[in-house]
Amino acid sequence: MRIAVPKEIYPDEQRVALVPSEIVKLIKAGHQVLVEAGAGTAASYTDEEYQQAGAGTALSPDALYVNAEVVFKVRPPQDDEIKRLGRGATLICFLETLREPAIAKKLAERGVTAVALEMVPRISRAQSMDALSSQASAAGYKAMLIGAEAIRKYFPMLTTAAGTIRPARAFVLGAGVAGLQAIATAKRLGAVVEAFDIRAATRGEVESLGAKFIEIDLGEAGEAEGGYAKEISDAAKKHEHEVIKDVLAHCDVVVTTAAVPGKKAPLLITADMVAAMKSGSVIVDMAVEQGGNVAGSQAGKKVTANGVTIIGPINLPSLMAIHTSQLFARNVVTLFTHLSPDGQLQLDFTDEITAGAVITHAGEVVNEKIIELLT
Ligand code: NAD
Repeated sequence: MRIAVPKEIYPDEQRVALVPSEIVKLIKAGHQVLVEAGAGTAASYTDEEYQQAGAGTALSPDALYVNAEVVFKVRPPQDDEIKRLGRGATLICFLETLREPAIAKKLAERGVTAVALEMVPRISRAQSMDALSSQASAAGYKAMLIGAEAIRKYFPMLTTAAGTIRPARAFVLGAGVAGLQAIATAKRLGAVVEAFDIRAATRGEVESLGAKFIEIDLGEAGEAEGGYAKEISDAAKKHEHEVIKDVLAHCDVVVTTAAVPGKKAPLLITADMVAAMKSGSVIVDMAVEQGGNVAGSQAGKKVTANGVTIIGPINLPSLMAIHTSQLFARNVVTLFTHLSPDGQLQLDFTDEITAGAVITHAGEVVNEKIIELLT
């Protein structure tokens, strides 16, 4: 098939959907690949490297899209990009349809088969296609490094001629994919690490990384069907706040990652909790783009409250673009190969991965969850 890879146009997006090593595989499988000039530049993949891997270079978006049968992208397409997609073309990218279901209608009207990476079911069989996880893991790593950089302290314990430095104390709130990588990163740097998550299943994962799991009896399950987090009651939230407040008081760096699928991120650290923290400590609010876990955090900004620095980083995976593009490319190629086992797209809607990830096909919105949201 003729596969096209555009340059991302979302502001400051550095990632690219395909890297040269994955192109080699696609070409071996009989596909043709066209990459827009400069598409990989921000992620340090040059046009020459793509050409050496066997891809053609399109000098303009018009030249890229004109004959494309399949488009691989990172970000959801903007209106200009949707207009360029040919009828019957397939698009694979993060679509964010749960947040913006209207995009599904536009793509269906355009006659595009749209495949949303964030809708790939999180089952063992689909792990190698799980771009949410590959990108979240990189984000968790980077968030802890941002915290480490900002605390103006050592992370490890040091014994020096000038005295002993005690290890930094890190706390990670939300131990999903990003949180576990934040914990592992803080451990590697030598901090003493504590963590909490409302899903009971995370305790073993936190402890296996050498961190301490904070005991909070919420009086109810924090898990919904399928093992995902659910929104907890106000009473449970109040209890969680009280316990966390005590933990925060002795922390140097806090990384918050808490999210509930389909909901605004829960506010877990209130202004009075920030006020009770040590001056000089740092909070990195990874949930800032979903509404924030921390009172006062601002997307893309660093603010200070009572001597506590609150950082609201945006698009962390993009800051790791060399590796996140590599991992994303593997995810997207594996998903595409799953959907086109004999080199041509063959959608089998009895397959859980296909039914979960394909949003539009043959002019219709076909995904049950999105149909429900649109009605
Ligand atoms: P996420 O980004 O949606 O949320 C981050 C974490 O915040 C979750 O662990 C959640 O439990 C936690 N959280 C929510 N409310 C909280 C609160 N009030 N206090 C503390 N923590 C709170 O999560 P994710 O990293 O995308 O992972 C979500 C789920 O997907 C998990 O169950 C995970 O095990 C599962 N998963 C499965 C696979 C697989 O099997 N292939 C792959 C990746 C993730």
